[in-house]
Amino acid sequence: MYISRTLSNHARGINNRIMKFNTKVIHGGQIKEKGYGAVMPPIYQTSTYAQSEPGVHEGYEYSRTQNPTRHALENSIASLENAKYGLAFSSGLSAIDAILKLFKPGDEIISTHDLYGGSYRLFNKIYKKYGLKFIFEDLKDLEKVEKLITPKTKLIWVETPTNPMINVIDIAAISELCKKNNILLGVDNTFSTPYLQRPLDLGADIVMHSGTKYLAGHSDVIIGLIALNDEKIAENLFFIQNSSGAICGPMDAFLTLRGIKTLHVRMDRHCSNGEKVFEYLKQCKKVEKIYWPGLESHPNHLVAKKQMKKFGGMISFTFAGNMYSDVVKFTKKLKVFTLAESLGGVESLVNHPATMTHASMPKKDRERNGITESLIRLSVGIEDSADLVNDLDKAIN
Ligand SMILES: *Cc1c(COP(=O)(O)O)cnc(C)c1O
Repeated sequence: MYISRTLSNHARGINNRIMKFNTKVIHGGQIKEKGYGAVMPPIYQTSTYAQSEPGVHEGYEYSRTQNPTRHALENSIASLENAKYGLAFSSGLSAIDAILKLFKPGDEIISTHDLYGGSYRLFNKIYKKYGLKFIFEDLKDLEKVEKLITPKTKLIWVETPTNPMINVIDIAAISELCKKNNILLGVDNTFSTPYLQRPLDLGADIVMHSGTKYLAGHSDVIIGLIALNDEKIAENLFFIQNSSGAICGPMDAFLTLRGIKTLHVRMDRHCSNGEKVFEYLKQCKKVEKIYWPGLESHPNHLVAKKQMKKFGGMISFTFAGNMYSDVVKFTKKLKVFTLAESLGGVESLVNHPATMTHASMPKKDRERNGITESLIRLSVGIEDSADLVNDLDKAIN
């Protein structure tokens, strides 16, 4: 059976829980390449594998089921998230799609009210019509969440910090609520990466990443990742991965592995540049609101301090007066920041959620969630911080 073989393959690489994180990003879950001693896992650009006798092979039969390059990446994310199992998909959304396929019509899923726009679209425009029920709430308010739980509630889906409002949700507290009610807890850890926060250690059951962002880190690949410890759910997810087939290609797996090797170094710089940009925005008269977990008046600053190593490089803010025309002027003048969707790459990006990443969210939902006309989201890159601050200052003033 390929499923149990896949699981036993997984066990091969994951034997290094004792390594420190900064070593794991480079070696975690990796096995020595036997052919020529290649230090990087080769890009196994093959669809199939020779068998010596029917059913007798070297552990790989067909690349939808498993591929050695993808396997190395899957072991890497498992190692970084302190998980037993890792899975890689063609995109972050296809990873979430695979998780949703664990459920059946009638099941209820509670999620955050300011979810990533693409996840919101997948939930509401695709899975709703197959009978899954989605409820969106402010997951900071545990009393409200508890009232929404019914015997049909099967999953709570958390993003923290959220996109683009940078709300912070207490993973350990939600996990207690989930355990009490026998509900799975899934965390989209894209914004934090396992360098800043490890949801499984805080009690989550499934952690997911858009590896497109910080993990790959160079804006050159679309990829999704899942890590978890539960063997049964892992078997189901491997079954879904192979049956639905939304796998990543070996080249994309290679690029992501390559990116992960510098994750710790990049994240430190994203965080320190983020802090400098925050300090600048804080004293800027034309800026009204700032959303960043390091802000002491951030509603969940203390939770962020508790569950995150540092505060990250994602910052949102609004202009006083809330005029869309200010956004246009500002984004046109920027020279170092690029106006683009996505985040988490080495280069600094600026995004206007209302017209870009969150355009698929109905206007009334956007406004209720604080995604106003002048809300800007910055993905602070790893350039020189003085150039970044200068660029913002010139464009704002
Ligand atoms: C980008 C993103 C996704 C979707 O990932 P893709 O790789 O673009 O499919 C999901 N969640 C969050 C928080 C994201 O930022």
